Amino acid sequence: MENKKISKYLSLYEATSYINAVRAGVDNTPTGEFYQNMLDVAVDVFDPCREAMGGPLFCHCLYRGQKYNSLVKGADPNSDHLRAQAIDMDCEQYGNGDNKKLFLFVINNLDYDNIIWEFGNDEKPDWVHVSYKKGRNRKIITRKEKDKPYVRHYDSRMKIEERLKFLGLNG
Ligand SMILES: [Zn+2]
Repeated sequence: MENKKISKYLSLYEATSYINAVRAGVDNTPTGEFYQNMLDVAVDVFDPCREAMGGPLFCHCLYRGQKYNSLVKGADPNSDHLRAQAIDMDCEQYGNGDNKKLFLFVINNLDYDNIIWEFGNDEKPDWVHVSYKKGRNRKIITRKEKDKPYVRHYDSRMKIEERLKFLGLNG
C-alpha cells in the first residue's frame, strides 16, 4: 500500500494505523463508503484542527476495521472508528499546543456528531475523540473518565460553557 495523502495534512498510513495494523497482521484499509467517510473526517475535521493548532497534530486513530478493532485492547465493539466516522487526535504528542485547546476549537468551530474528552483531568483530556457523520451530526459532548461510564450532554441549544460545566469541565 502506498502512503498517499488523503487530505491536505493527513496521510493514509496515519488514518489506517498502518504500522500497528501490519504488525498485527491485518489489512486495515477501508473500502467503499467507509473510504469516503475517512476522507470526510480528514478534510472536515483533521485539516481544520491541524491548521488551528498551527503545527503537527498526531492522529492516533481514524479507521479501525472490524478485524483490527477486535485486536485493540479496550476498543469499543460499536465504535464509530469501525465505519471511519471518528478520529482520535492529540496535539501534545508533538509538543504542539494542549488538548483542551483542541477540544474547545472543535466545539466552537466545527460540525461533529460526538466529541469525547478522553480521560486526563478537569484541566485537559489525554486525547480528543471526534465522531463525524456528514449531514447527521448531533453535536453531543461527552466526557470519559477512568472506571466510570460515559457522561453525555445532548442539548446543543445550551451554551457551550454551560454544557461543559454540566460535565464537570471548565471551559
Ligand atoms: Zn476514538
